Amino acid sequence: MAVRWIKVLSALQACDMRLRDLETRLASIPKEMAALKARRDKAVSETSASAEAARQFERAAKAAEAEIEKLNAESRKLEQQSALVKKNTEYQAMLNNIALNKSKISQLENVVLENLDRFEEGKKAYRKVRLENEAVAKAAHAEFDELAEFAKEVRSEVEKLKAERPSYVCEIDGEMLSSYTHLLNGKNSGMPLVAVDANGICGNCHMRVTPQALTNIKRGAVTHCDNCQHFIYSEDAVD
Ligand SMILES: [Zn+2]
Repeated sequence: MAVRWIKVLSALQACDMRLRDLETRLASIPKEMAALKARRDKAVSETSASAEAARQFERAAKAAEAEIEKLNAESRKLEQQSALVKKNTEYQAMLNNIALNKSKISQLENVVLENLDRFEEGKKAYRKVRLENEAVAKAAHAEFDELAEFAKEVRSEVEKLKAERPSYVCEIDGEMLSSYTHLLNGKNSGMPLVAVDANGICGNCHMRVTPQALTNIKRGAVTHCDNCQHFIYSEDAVD
């Protein structure tokens, strides 16, 4: 039969260790959620950037088309005016201007075609990027929701354990409890109560416990490791 002090201290420790695990898990959740949100935002902004990249070519094509329109209008006007001029030099200058516009228009037509081609390519690339990123964003969103649900479950278990904890605490006398609490909150995050193995090695500091301590734990007495001060017991005392 288990020695009573070991039994009650084990019960409290089991509660505290579970609380410690759950709280550690909870503490890491906001960072994970932020990472998921960032992944989703990145996918969304990549999609917009890809659409914008395609639209740039469309705008360049439209700007060149507008320029062609302007040059055509100018040439038509020059043709009308050229019919009315009397001086040959003036007439020649107008014809030269029209010829220059024609050459500019031909260059601009190439610009239009080139940009329309690139716009088509850009649209194709955009569709691919959108498809991929929609999947990424959707997965990140689902994972985010799952994590939020998980955090809710963890928080509810934490609440439950915190409500249960006083029922374990009240079984333990003041001195033992204060010693336990000190060890629990110690900086090494170990377990306050540990077993000593068959070779007499402390489960916390891994040093050999003294023969006197071994004798004490075999009797089931409340015993501390001489090295690390943690509560020690023998598995035999529990069985
Ligand atoms: Zn120890």
